[in-house]
Amino acid sequence: MDSSGLWGIDLGGTKIEGVVMNPMNPGEPLHRLRRETGASLGYDHVVSGIAALVADLERASGFKRPSRIGIGTPGVIDPDTGGLKNSNTVCLNNRPLRADLEAALGCEVAMANDANCFALAEATWGAARGEGVVMGLILGTGVGGGIVVDGRVLNGLHGIAGEWGHNPIPGESHPCYCGRRGCVETVLAGPSLERHHRELGGEAVRLPVIVERAAAGSPPAIQTLACLREKFGVAIAAVINILDPHAIVIGGGVGNISLLYDAETRAAICKHLFNAELHTRILKPALGDSAGVFGAARLAA
Ligand SMILES: [Zn+2]
Repeated sequence: MDSSGLWGIDLGGTKIEGVVMNPMNPGEPLHRLRRETGASLGYDHVVSGIAALVADLERASGFKRPSRIGIGTPGVIDPDTGGLKNSNTVCLNNRPLRADLEAALGCEVAMANDANCFALAEATWGAARGEGVVMGLILGTGVGGGIVVDGRVLNGLHGIAGEWGHNPIPGESHPCYCGRRGCVETVLAGPSLERHHRELGGEAVRLPVIVERAAAGSPPAIQTLACLREKFGVAIAAVINILDPHAIVIGGGVGNISLLYDAETRAAICKHLFNAELHTRILKPALGDSAGVFGAARLAA
């Protein structure tokens, strides 16, 4: 590691955040800065905005930038070109972001998507610290995931390792933005659960309200959460049957729902597992909103 510590940038659709971790204690942030991404102003604006943020981190920390900086991005990174695909920040798609950032920053850039950064941060400094194989799930507006093996992100041949959100759930047929039907995301994403609640005759309310109403005894809300439990069991058992991770950490708004961590959900997973018992630790994240930018910094190690 450079004497200036680990530096990470979390590039999001609306904001960019940068962090300098303490060189003496890499799990501790020394300086953090946030900016608007300004994605509507185009690709060149985003690249120069990141360069300006890194210059400001130098001023704030008093350190020179290290020889390598980690960047977390939305979407999937093409392992061959470092270009992005499937990013909802569309101006980034199919552009050679890594090469352009290396030119703009004058240092090496290590890139991973936001789900991989989440998994890496939680595996290194968070809830799954010390576990060998960690699957980090993003269950929010969309459904994604990342895999960390012995402290390293597993990217895979196509850069899609851990993308369980577009596996099919048997019996489901709702259309997905990806062009297929019945994807995990069409059932377990926050907006999908809200849609399901409406289809059951419930009001058009956000997920936290559905959780409150279930606790108060509302039948459509109770049925929606029962569906979450059962379909999560089906979907995650398929992941465990392939990867068999030591720990699973669930990020995103849906991950705040406590029933995902209870014995009944573990039983729902077991019904579809190729094993009599489930020993996998299923964990709430420990780093909150910081996981993305901390994970980006860890990429630089
Ligand atoms: Zn899909």
